[in-house]
Amino acid sequence: MFDFKMIINGKKVSTVETFDVINPANETVIAKCPMASEKDLDDAVEAARKAFPSWSSTGEEERARLIHAIGQAFDDNAEELARLVTLEQGKPFKGFAGLGARFEIGGAVVWSHATADMSLPVEVIQDNDDARIEIHRKPLGVVGSITPWNYPLLIAIWHTVPALRAGNTVVIKPSEYTPLAVMRAAEMINEILPSGVFNVVTGDGALGAAMARHKGIDKIVFTGSTQTGKKVMQDASSNLKRLTLELGGNDAAIVLPDVDVEKIAPKIFAAAMINNGQTCAAIKRLYVHESVYDELCNSLAEIANNMVSGNGETEVDFGPIQNRAQFEKVCAIAEDAKARGARFLSGGEPGKGPGYFFPVTIAVDVPEDARLVTEEPFGPILPILRFSDIEEVLEKANATSVGLGGSVWSTNTERATHIATRLECGTAWVNNHAALQPNAPFGGVKESGFGVEFGTDGLKEFTVLQTVQIAKK
Ligand code: NAD
Repeated sequence: MFDFKMIINGKKVSTVETFDVINPANETVIAKCPMASEKDLDDAVEAARKAFPSWSSTGEEERARLIHAIGQAFDDNAEELARLVTLEQGKPFKGFAGLGARFEIGGAVVWSHATADMSLPVEVIQDNDDARIEIHRKPLGVVGSITPWNYPLLIAIWHTVPALRAGNTVVIKPSEYTPLAVMRAAEMINEILPSGVFNVVTGDGALGAAMARHKGIDKIVFTGSTQTGKKVMQDASSNLKRLTLELGGNDAAIVLPDVDVEKIAPKIFAAAMINNGQTCAAIKRLYVHESVYDELCNSLAEIANNMVSGNGETEVDFGPIQNRAQFEKVCAIAEDAKARGARFLSGGEPGKGPGYFFPVTIAVDVPEDARLVTEEPFGPILPILRFSDIEEVLEKANATSVGLGGSVWSTNTERATHIATRLECGTAWVNNHAALQPNAPFGGVKESGFGVEFGTDGLKEFTVLQTVQIAKK
């Protein structure tokens, strides 16, 4: 049993009341975590507020140096962190195409270093005989981070490292399903940063809501479901908090007739099934032109039928679904598709347990009104839909309230790019999907949220703009 504590003002804090953390591969309890009270949250916010003046006035170079040290600490302890992610989240250590827990920690290392090297110098927009006008970017104060369970450490880093780099202090609440890697990382971070700069509190949605309402928090960066994002937005109005909301998606990929099926099939499979399909910007609806439909379906089914799902501590391609509620949702969505006439070319039936196992599932002949098409399953199940007319398929791809990612696949990249720009989504890929990198802004449109992460645009989200106007006459 792991026994991690919260960290408030540089000190480890436990509580009488706790909650269980479950290993989704065998349903055993692996840790009892502190259930933070509102008083614990107040303490964490107060510590972050007190640390803010000193941290925000720490020199740019010094902040960058310390963030590089955080990246180095993750690298030095990568095996331990990856093991925690495997145990709490379920993803295999290595996994299919090397996209497992070790990949997640690698991402945390890469993003920390890349963000450390970013900066927001003063911009001069006018300097003439009348006036000099400068744009300064100043940190906001205390940033509250609320994270989901699919990439427990990586998303925490995406939220908090740019916040720190811009000069803010942080209070983070990881998902109650997967708090362990973040708690361990917080220990490492607190060995590097001054006390109070990085605080971690643990608890469920009620604690998240208390953060969103808290008057001592200046901004919330939230990744999770659209439903919860809407509640965060309501609660954040208490003090007009700034918000970045990275919410759900239902990404469409469109495959044009001129593709090389053998070449694209493994890439499409990986982009749909990455992290067992529990990825916000995974391919969730695959629209394939009728001329290559059967060939691509068969290629994807062949890959899927060779996949092994099992306990992520062993040599498997995919682990379990992360929690029971999500597992039951995926089972219900598969049942609904079957009842509406869908055929499964692989998988389709849940494992017997223990553990929340659902095999990699390729579904064909799925009607457009099936839950598998209209909802985000967030699991290893991909509907493949047939199309003949590009205008019709674009209409279907865009006929959703969310818009995170989308892609077009073709050997004619110019045509594909033109079509991709007509997708209503924050990131449109051509001959790729779900590929993220630290210098490319990423965010949703419509009900996938607002604001972006990554790159200098992402860094700006953790600042407030000040215009400084110096009269010369
Ligand atoms: P969730 O919304 O249930 O929970 C996310 C976090 O919010 C958890 O820490 C939870 O404790 C907290 N929370 C719950 N109720 C709250 C409330 N009322 N106020 C404040 N916080 C509250 O989401 P999840 O099930 O953990 O994650 C899955 C969802 O996240 C999927 O919809 C997925 O698409 C989305 N997601 C989006 C991105 C992205 O970048 N756009 C990335 C990963 C996941």
